[in-house]
Amino acid sequence: MVVYLVGAGPGDADLITVKAVKILKKADVVLYDYLSNDEILNYAPDTAKKIYVGKKAGSHYKKQDEINELIVKEAQDRSNNKEGKDPVVVRLKGGDPFVFGRGGEEILELAKAGIDFEVIPGVTSAVGAPTSLGLPITHRAVATSFTVVTGHEDPTKPDKQVKWDFTADTLIILMGIGNIKENTQEIMKYRDGKTPTCVIESGTLPNERVIFGTLDNIADKNINTPAILIIGNVIDVFKDLDYLKAKE
Ligand code: SAH
Repeated sequence: MVVYLVGAGPGDADLITVKAVKILKKADVVLYDYLSNDEILNYAPDTAKKIYVGKKAGSHYKKQDEINELIVKEAQDRSNNKEGKDPVVVRLKGGDPFVFGRGGEEILELAKAGIDFEVIPGVTSAVGAPTSLGLPITHRAVATSFTVVTGHEDPTKPDKQVKWDFTADTLIILMGIGNIKENTQEIMKYRDGKTPTCVIESGTLPNERVIFGTLDNIADKNINTPAILIIGNVIDVFKDLDYLKAKE
């Protein structure tokens, strides 16, 4: 019995890996988060038990401890209840399981419970959203490095790990809209307020939208989630191209 931690990709159902689809097709149980695209669940058989463990409208997130327990319980139930074939338990997560997906915590719990697991990478929205638009995050002579960082650090931490003093040329911020005002203020201590900045809303999905601005004005724009924030001069090189303009 193996629990598969599977990356669902950035949104577009075709941007999941072939390996992930093969595993989903034989799933007995799928525990899934909020996904940018429900279509991905349809790769699993109708008979599979599908358990939503993300945020429900009007209610709270399941706590990570509860999710960990549930994955272990589903895995144990399946292995005790042999139905002739090796049961397949899938933990499906948006993007890549280990990019702000708390996948590390889940495999530690599985390891503690003595349950085998395999991790299937996914295209992270941090890279997949800009790339699918045709916006390079590195570009010769303009950007030789990028940093991916959370805009919403665990509020219970006594000391902040994110100081916003990153030196990478391109800064990519996930979960960055709720705190956009405070965070951009902090970043302006280290970067010019006129640094080209953009937001990609619902990347790779039909309602995808790009919002262009600068570090000092992006927080004033009307932004819907899910969205990633990208800061860096590389945006200026590409933003006037017709295909990118069309996404505004
Ligand atoms: N593991 C995921 C990230 C989980 S954190 C990954 O690798 O992509 C959730 C954050 O991802 C959101 O707050 C948003 O910043 C970003 N995100 C996920 N899907 C997105 C999409 N389709 N378009 C824009 N941002 C997205």
